[in-house]
Amino acid sequence: MFFASLKLSPALTDLLEKEGYVRPTPIQKRLIPVLLDGQNAIASAQTGSGKTLAYLLPALQQINPEAEKVTHHYPRLFILSPTKELAQQIYEVSRPFVNALNLNVVLLQGGGRRTVETERLKKGVDVIIATPQRALEHIEAQHIDIKAIRHLVVDEADMMFDMGFVGYLEKIFTMMTERSQKIIVSATITPRVIKLAKTYIKPLKRIELDPPG
Ligand code: ADP
Ligand code: MG
Repeated sequence: MFFASLKLSPALTDLLEKEGYVRPTPIQKRLIPVLLDGQNAIASAQTGSGKTLAYLLPALQQINPEAEKVTHHYPRLFILSPTKELAQQIYEVSRPFVNALNLNVVLLQGGGRRTVETERLKKGVDVIIATPQRALEHIEAQHIDIKAIRHLVVDEADMMFDMGFVGYLEKIFTMMTERSQKIIVSATITPRVIKLAKTYIKPLKRIELDPPG
């Protein structure tokens, strides 16, 4: 089983090959078709199972299907991560794909220079990777056109609760347009994560990979 059989574009499958990715992981096999189909999803799979590309590739394909030069940049993919370290990891995994597709990506994080972030946002970005509190600050300052966002990802959702960030997430969910695709991923899906998902995401497809026995 190769990435091409998941209906990923030639541009993305070529890039995957170039970056040394040969076969999709189990969560990628399950989640990529659901997300390419435009569905909302909540998905769990253990740490290190490749959840980042599982949500990133379908979103990038929908943002720039022909991998053509993008001239007008506006935020279409919004990824929320509980910590700046995890945001940085998402950034590293996404960078070769985003660059090759001529998309601009910005990282917004506590401890980052807010004025530098604001300048980047004003220049125009396609993909935002952010911690929730800093994201909300930029939204409230109207540096981010939240209505433009087509795909919202909440990564490490259970950790978001551990860190007390759920209030920020609820605010952001409330501002999203009805038609935006919403995705929650987590190593474990706990009842509080399901409750959040059911409140803000309808309809919702649930994909849980069994932990190895
Ligand atoms: P998770 O978010 O599930 O903890 P990541 O998305 O951070 O996992 O991926 C963990 C590592 O696995 C990363 O270094 C990533 O580049 C690598 N990886 C992802 N998908 C594949 C794949 N299909 N084949 C090989 N390595 C992969
Ligand atoms: Mg991850």
